[in-house]
Amino acid sequence: MAKDYYEILGVDKSANKDEIKKAFYKLAHKYHPDKKEGDEKKFKEVNEAYQILSDDGKRSKYDQFGSGYENMGNAGGYSQGQGGFGGFDFSGFQNSSQDFDFGNLNDIFSDFFGGNGGGREQRRGRDISTEIHITFAESIFGVNRKILLTKTSSCDTCKGNGAKTGTKMETCKACNGQGQIREVRRTILGSIETKKICEHCLGSGEVPKEKCEKCHGKGVLRKEEEISLAVPAGIRNGEMVRMTGMGEAVAKGTSGDLYIKINVTPHAIFKRDGHDLVMNLNLKLSDALLGTEYPIETLDGKIEVTIPEGVSINEILRVKGKGVPVGKGKRGDLLIKLNIKLPNKLSRKSRELIEELKKEGI
Ligand SMILES: [Zn+2]
Ligand SMILES: [Zn+2]
Repeated sequence: MAKDYYEILGVDKSANKDEIKKAFYKLAHKYHPDKKEGDEKKFKEVNEAYQILSDDGKRSKYDQFGSGYENMGNAGGYSQGQGGFGGFDFSGFQNSSQDFDFGNLNDIFSDFFGGNGGGREQRRGRDISTEIHITFAESIFGVNRKILLTKTSSCDTCKGNGAKTGTKMETCKACNGQGQIREVRRTILGSIETKKICEHCLGSGEVPKEKCEKCHGKGVLRKEEEISLAVPAGIRNGEMVRMTGMGEAVAKGTSGDLYIKINVTPHAIFKRDGHDLVMNLNLKLSDALLGTEYPIETLDGKIEVTIPEGVSINEILRVKGKGVPVGKGKRGDLLIKLNIKLPNKLSRKSRELIEELKKEGI
């Protein structure tokens, strides 16, 4: 099956890395299986396309060999395993700089997608979630946040192996270093053999000779940890950010993921409409008729907006490039919706002047 990775991500063949990344984040977010409208198949496709197009080496091979490239290594045939997809997080894809090698394509892909090659059950820490509140301006421009979490983390003293500093590991006696134990049960249908992970060494085949005093040999402990999150520009209220491996740690296994819900405090003046920012502006009748310059406090600071003469109610002025960032150096626009504020009460003088205007046919 030939796949057009550019089409899957909805980008041009000439798209730069940043555009590809943006397209990927957007689609991965949309199709993420954890989402209500998620679509796992599409999510995998998008992920697959990104793995290729985000890597210069793979991208150029793909450009060169097209769909043939895919058939050579059964790239589409991966299975989802522990640790799963990088998703839209910001810490994944460390593998993407790996050298390309046709002969090892399957290996590379199983690395990418965390395939459970060995077929052995892997221990995985709990996924955890938290939420943060950011201002409207921070949601538009992005912000770096430090989050303090109390969670089960790997022990720094023993680096997670549970051994006292300076002491060695020894072979686990319970499983004789095999990491697993065979269990044979006799039943009326004959004997059934199952393999179980050794509970003493948790499958690693070795145990500390002397236990780490900090974590009592567990390799993990509950502690407070500071996590740095770079909230991307243009994030919307309610969006989730997943940080792979930042969830709870588990001894001799992979850490779970951390999900962070982003709450955006609404702004008193600005609202979002796609990549544009929208605001209302009340004009005096005379300004609407004669035109003027209006100072406006945007999220970027003060600007002067020219109101042309003779604008009408609900007319929209567009200030280019003052909206939501959409890519490298690109931004949506600021839309200023004009409203004409008519006076509630007229002074005698105003009334006389308007009577005059009336005679002029205005
Ligand atoms: Zn320890
Ligand atoms: Zn053991």
